[in-house]
Amino acid sequence: MKILDFHAHLDDRWLHKPIPDASHMIAAMDRFGVGQTCVYTMMGFYADTPRNNDLLLERCRRYPDRLIPFVTVDPKEGPAAVDELERCLEFPEFRGIKFHPWLQAFASSMLEETMTAILKVAARTDTPVLLHDGTPPYSTTFQVADLARWVPGAKVFLGHAGSADYVDPAARLIRDIPNLYGCYCGSRPGDLAHLVETAGADKITFGSDFDPGSWELLAERLDNTIEAGLSPEDLEAVLWRNAERILRPSGS
Ligand SMILES: [Zn+2]
Repeated sequence: MKILDFHAHLDDRWLHKPIPDASHMIAAMDRFGVGQTCVYTMMGFYADTPRNNDLLLERCRRYPDRLIPFVTVDPKEGPAAVDELERCLEFPEFRGIKFHPWLQAFASSMLEETMTAILKVAARTDTPVLLHDGTPPYSTTFQVADLARWVPGAKVFLGHAGSADYVDPAARLIRDIPNLYGCYCGSRPGDLAHLVETAGADKITFGSDFDPGSWELLAERLDNTIEAGLSPEDLEAVLWRNAERILRPSGS
């Protein structure tokens, strides 16, 4: 069974906690049959996003067939954030954009002009934008869903598909907003069945949220996905087909 993990993190540390290097991520992927993984920064959410984008790209270039980096920018920087996004998208390796409004400490509603400009770049370059969701005060599922309404041409992902508390509203928002999608990295298999039943299998991707130091998360979340009771076609869509369709085409 082919598997593409749409949500994981690669960095050398998360604040005080060291994270093992990419070879540990590849080893975990090999162990569980994951072909490719989309990876995001950790430290780039706090400071110096250009440097962290460069570092992530460098780490992924060691495994070009396995790791797909997502770019992160800091929208609090205004037009400089849009410039940094354009700079990174010159590299074909970057096939998605990631925000973590909670860790990055911004409310999209207060940065509407910059976020709209970013989403327009995403729409123009056919690059999906994934945002952490499910956590107040900046990353509730409803706040993230709003972004999809601002620029209907951009593909916006709820990075946790409602996480634990907002799965039902997430399912209905994904169903009702054509350009809103969900990445399921949940802890309860029943949630995935509910998302697929409500929003359709074509708008949900599998994500583990693991990093090279926490392979257990990959094992557990993969198991939750495979054991969710989906039809073989729906499971295939969630495990890789949707991700391949939605990621920025490689080489663009
Ligand atoms: Zn994450």
